[in-house]
Order: sequence, then C-alpha cells, then structure tokens
Amino acid sequence: AAVLRLVLGDQLDPLHPWFEARPDPQVLVVLMEIRQETDYALHHAQKVLAIFAAMRRFAQRLHEAGHRVHYLRIGNPHNRQSLPDNLDALAQATGATTVEAQLPDEWRLDAQLRAHAAQAPYALHWADSRHFLSSRDEAARFFGDGPWLMERFYRHLRQREQVLMEGRQPAGGRWNFDSENRSRWPGDPPEPPDARRRHALSALWQEIESAGVRTMGEPCAEALPWPLDREEALEDLQHFIAHGLPHFGPYQDALSDSHERLFHSLLSFALNTKMLHPREVIAAAEAAWRSGQAPLAGVEGFIRQILGWREYVRGVYWARMPGYVALNHLGHKRPLPAWFWTGQTRMRCLQQAIGQSLRAAHAHHIQRLMVIGNFALLAGLDPAEVHPWYLGIYIDAFEWVEAPNTLGMSQFADGGGITTKPYVSSAAYLDRMGDHCRHCPYDKRQRLGERACPFNALYWDFMDRHAERLRHLPRLAPVYRQLERMAAQDLAALRGQARATLERLESL
Ligand code: FAD
Repeated sequence: AAVLRLVLGDQLDPLHPWFEARPDPQVLVVLMEIRQETDYALHHAQKVLAIFAAMRRFAQRLHEAGHRVHYLRIGNPHNRQSLPDNLDALAQATGATTVEAQLPDEWRLDAQLRAHAAQAPYALHWADSRHFLSSRDEAARFFGDGPWLMERFYRHLRQREQVLMEGRQPAGGRWNFDSENRSRWPGDPPEPPDARRRHALSALWQEIESAGVRTMGEPCAEALPWPLDREEALEDLQHFIAHGLPHFGPYQDALSDSHERLFHSLLSFALNTKMLHPREVIAAAEAAWRSGQAPLAGVEGFIRQILGWREYVRGVYWARMPGYVALNHLGHKRPLPAWFWTGQTRMRCLQQAIGQSLRAAHAHHIQRLMVIGNFALLAGLDPAEVHPWYLGIYIDAFEWVEAPNTLGMSQFADGGGITTKPYVSSAAYLDRMGDHCRHCPYDKRQRLGERACPFNALYWDFMDRHAERLRHLPRLAPVYRQLERMAAQDLAALRGQARATLERLESL
C-alpha cells in the first residue's frame, strides 16, 4: 500500500468521504487498540469495551465493503501499543509513503501526530472529520476579544444552519425556552422503557483484562447497552425522538432517586464516536416538532445542547489548549475522597449519582453538574484530580468536551470563561429539583450539627472563603448581600461546621 489511513476510536463514521469512493487497493485503513489510549486516564470498563467492540465492527464492515483493513488487537504481540510506533512499523512493512489522518478532536493526539510526523519517513496529510457544524477555531474567530457567550454563538449557528427558524425569526418568536425547562419530575409521565440492544462481549472483556488494562466500574460485559454501529445508534435516536423528546424539556434538569435516565437521550456516546452526525440528530428533533410530536420548548432545549453547548465547548477547548487542563483559578488542593470510586457515602444524592456512574458509565447533566461537580467545588477538591475522574468515568468522555465542562462550567477553574458564576448550591436547590433528600440520613434544612446536610455549611463557607474573587460577580450579588447581613457568630458557626465536615470528608 502507498497510503495508510488512520481511523481513531472516536472516528467511527461510515459516511466519511474516505469510504464513499470505491475501495482503493493502494490504501490500507488502519485501526489500533493501544495501551496509549487505554492508559492516559483510568477509564470506565464499559468505555474501553464499547469503543473496542465498535472499532472491531467498523473494521469488519469496511472489510466486507472491499476496503483493505489492518486491525491491531490489544493482545496482538506485534502491537507496539503506541500510535507512532505502530504507524512506523506498518509504514516500514508496507512501504507506505503517506499517512492520512482525520483531524483528531483531542489536543493530545493532534500534538503527538504532528510532532511525530515532522521527523517520520512518511508524509502526514490531514482530512477533516466533517463531524462538527463549526470548525475548530470558528468560535474563537466569532468571539474575537469579546466575552465568550454561548448564547450568541448558538444564535449565530441557528441562523446559519437554518435550525428552528421562521425566516429570520426564531421559531415561536423566542431563541431560548430555558425558563420552561426547569421542573421537578412528579413521577409522571413515566420514564420511557430502555429499548437499547444488549451485547454479549465476555470474550473481548477477557482480552482486555489479560492485556493488563486497568479500568473502573462495572464492565457489564454480558449485556453491554451501548450502540456499536451507526444502525444501532439510529435505532436509539428514533426511540428517543418518539418516547423521550416529547417530555425532555420540562424535566431536563430534574433529579430522581428512583429513575436514572428520565427523558435524556443517551446519545452522547454515539455522537462523540461519530456514529451519528449532530446535524441529523438536530434535524430529527426539529422534524418531531414540525410534525407535532414534541413541543417547541423541549425541542429547542434539546437542540441547544447539541448545536449550542457541544459546538461551543469544542471551540473553547481548541482556543485554550494546551494549558487549559492545568487551570485552578480558586487554588483548590484537596484530594478526592475514596468514595468517588465506590459511591459509598451516606449523602444520598452523591451515593446515587456516583453509584450510577460506576454502574452505568453515564449520569445526566444535572447529576454531573449540580450533584457531583457542585460537591467537588464546594469542598475545594483539586481540579487536577476532578478532571481525570470525569475524563475516565463517562462513556462519552473525550477531553475536548469533558475538560471545558468539568474545568470551565463545573469547577470554575478558568475563573469564569464559560459561566457567569460558579455552579454551586446548598441543599435547597437539590431538594427543589428532586427527591433524594427524602431518602437521605442528612437533614436538608439544618446547617449545623451532625445531621446537617453537608452542602449547606459548605455552600456558605465557599462563598465566604472566595469572597475576594467572587463578590464582584453580578449574579452573586444577592448571595453576598445575605452573607454581609449574617451575624458574625452565625458565620463563625458555619465556618466551624464546614471545617469539621471537610475533616471527615472520607466518612461523610
Ligand atoms: P442529553 O441530555 O440527551 O443531551 C443531548 C446531547 O447534547 C448530548 O448527547 C450531548 O451530545 C449534548 N450535550 C448536552 N449537554 C452538553 C454540554 N454541556 N456540553 C456538550 N454537549 C452537551 N458530555 C460529553 O459528551 N462528554 C463528557 O465527557 C462530558 N463531561 C461532562 C462533565 C461535566 C462536569 C458536566 C457538567 C457535563 C459533561 N458533559 C459531557 C455534558 C453532558 O452532561 C452530557 O453530554 C450528557 O449528560 C450526555 O447524556 P445524554 O446523551 O443523555 O444527553
């Protein structure tokens, strides 16, 4: 072969132009399962399993379509377990003079390939992955020196892509229906049934284990519930559009002690591995509204996550890397308590959110942001530990989307590049959005004493501790007014309570 075409584990798009043309005998498509990729973070077992299984299926399909494919399994003795080493060996064995690669979404891989190619005996040519609606640097160009307001970028993309538009006006006369998307879920309508296919992957799991790969969480190798190819992902999309989307809007921020998924799509894995294109997911949601199957407020809310947030955070990532992952604006240094890896804490909301993450490799946005992230920020956990935890545990975690969400949106480690205030709350918010508190040994109403919900004192202590840095933020003005009015001895008691809470962090 004269040309090696590299397909990374998150580039499983069978509709990419590479595969449109008739198979070329001069081209060898290369996929590799490598320790470099299993080991840069401690990943959830389901994530490693799902990606490898989907890569294998992708390679199989290409082979059946007549493409020449070289697939390196994790246990293959010829596998050198690193991207450059495997490419070098293959180029030498095949005499290839060119390596073609789709632009990686992670800075780590982009930098590695560029640096290596500069001194490799073959030329490296880039192709776009054609996955996103905006280019890597489009958000940076759009915002220039101004503030990075997601909403502006989102409206720009709505207009350009003609999504939910009526002429030049937004459908329904409003760009944003957020205020209608904040209800508690009363238990009805019922959560849609989980119709996802299950995959028996014990043999693959054994290969992964015997290769010595370390993971966390439940492998679920007998019945892995994630889609492994585009056809399965499309079925999941259709099911969500019919059963989840009609109720997505009002309950998108809801928490439930008994229901994990509520009306979320669970499409992030299929999107981030490029089995689905964001444009088709957006189009399916819009079509559901136009045909009267789903209300506008919820459809707009759903589309905003994909056309807005997803494109925006990618822009943030490429504008701020490298260096972004080391940010720690608030100087937080506390290590993660051991229960981040077991879910064994008595705080019910955290027990459920972390337990579910370990069991299912997924938690919905409010669990990630307002339960786990909220606690991590209030407790002053070190972003340099929080970030790899999120990067490993979720099925959809790839650094381009995980880092801005974790470090920017959730931990305020960038000092407010993405959000206009830190996402923190006391027990009141958690109680308003769900029913965990009812099942919790801690008391949501108490601020002091053994039984007080830890979120309460930690919340006031956080605001007090960081007053210098945060009191000027307009959205926190009411909080700081309250803090200023607080009697000195009450504040002292809260500080004492917070200190005692943090001292027994491991046993909360
Ligand atoms: P739905 O609620 O059904 O939303 C639909 C789609 O919108 C998602 O599939 C996703 O593609 C997109 N989306 C929603 N919110 C965001 C967001 N904030 N940023 C980017 N895209 C979004 N998402 C990831 O894909 N990978 C991550 O590693 C990741 N890490 C996160 C870490 C933290 C601390 C937080 C607060 C959020 C993170 N998110 C991440 C965003 C979001 O929580 C997940 O995309 C979502 O929960 C995935 O489940 P779903 O497919 O059911 O989403």
